[in-house]
Amino acid sequence: MTAHAVLATPPALDVTALRADFPTLRRTINGHPLVYLDNAATSQKPQVVIDRMNRFYTEEYSTVRRSIHLLSAKATQAYEQTRHLVAQLINAPEARQIIFTKGTTEGINLVAHGYGRKFVGAGDEIIISATEHHANIVPWQMLCEEKGAHLRVIPVDDRGELILEAYEKLLTDRTRLVAVGHISNALGTIHPVEEIIRLAHAQGVPVLVDGAQAAPHMPVDVQALDCDFYVFSGHKTYGPTGVGILYGKAAWLERMNPFLGGGDMIETVTFEKTTYAPIPHKFEAGTPAIAEVIGLGTAIEYMRRIGLEAIAAYEHQLLEQATERLLAIPGVRIIGTAPRKAAIISFVIDGIHPHDIGTLLDQEGIAIRAGHHCAQPLMARYGVPATARASFAFYNLPSEIEALGAAIEKTIAVFA
Ligand code: PLP
Repeated sequence: MTAHAVLATPPALDVTALRADFPTLRRTINGHPLVYLDNAATSQKPQVVIDRMNRFYTEEYSTVRRSIHLLSAKATQAYEQTRHLVAQLINAPEARQIIFTKGTTEGINLVAHGYGRKFVGAGDEIIISATEHHANIVPWQMLCEEKGAHLRVIPVDDRGELILEAYEKLLTDRTRLVAVGHISNALGTIHPVEEIIRLAHAQGVPVLVDGAQAAPHMPVDVQALDCDFYVFSGHKTYGPTGVGILYGKAAWLERMNPFLGGGDMIETVTFEKTTYAPIPHKFEAGTPAIAEVIGLGTAIEYMRRIGLEAIAAYEHQLLEQATERLLAIPGVRIIGTAPRKAAIISFVIDGIHPHDIGTLLDQEGIAIRAGHHCAQPLMARYGVPATARASFAFYNLPSEIEALGAAIEKTIAVFA
């Protein structure tokens, strides 16, 4: 947890009241109340976010930045307000360091393109970790292929922790970037990104942090971390799909190549030469996801009202309870047992394929994820093709963990 996260005893959450904010949580699935435990894939939306987007489309709709009429001016104001809210959320020094993307995937591709194409050459090296989501592997592989550069991978131990001694050895004068996840989506490990960044900076190497799993679940302070880039997705942060965030240090963003070319990212265009707009607009070509950006702003206000410290503390209790409940079931094995974990539990059961677990739990109204979690190299590391994954949010209840445990026991009985 980062420096501005140190509240000794964050306030307790009124989870029952908070659940009432989420219309989807009221529904039943296969005759059972929905138990939504797929939050690492995407989170449910509070009514305020749905209402805000609805209001924008019904009463305020217009495009941003292009027109001088009132509706457009107001849309631009609401859109830019989200930039300020995001900057406050992650303690960015300036709102212009916040770039709107489609999501984490696009943010990483933007950096691979804008930074990688300019600063990475033949024989150079990019360091990632063995626990990365495909979104933080494939863009770097594509870059390395194009440039004749090499991908280096920080290994992970049996508990799911990165081996920092090996990482130190990987850092060389050929390293051009380190790109690591803040929290592993498949294991839940909270990686020591502060230390990873400190070691990289000691060699003059910039660091991108994939915060897709961190931003919705713990306080993030990009200045305390001193990361060069931080990316996350709106749809995992109780906001809409189709919008995400790239934070970057201004000095890098200003030196980087644009990603997409087109309207809005230019200063002047002639057939001979185009000059680019200052950041952030240099990286926001074309009409953006306006309603989604505005909806994300409402989601961020909602999350901050609850408090990220309180969310992290409550979800940690859920993690402890769920870990204990699952470990008490004979045949269940948890993959990822690092001491610093977010509320994500990957597990396997002897003799039962994760897809069968997922299907039988769905019949009980319990939504989990079963598969490789877009982390195939990590699955290979632990010698499994897939896992079942239960991932929690602040609106989950202890009684839902009991329902999960009981449904797993029932599943095991079906296969006995
Ligand atoms: N990185 C991590 C750690 C993730 O968990 C995810 C989504 O599951 C992504 C990247 C990709 O996010 P998106 O699909 O929203 O671009």
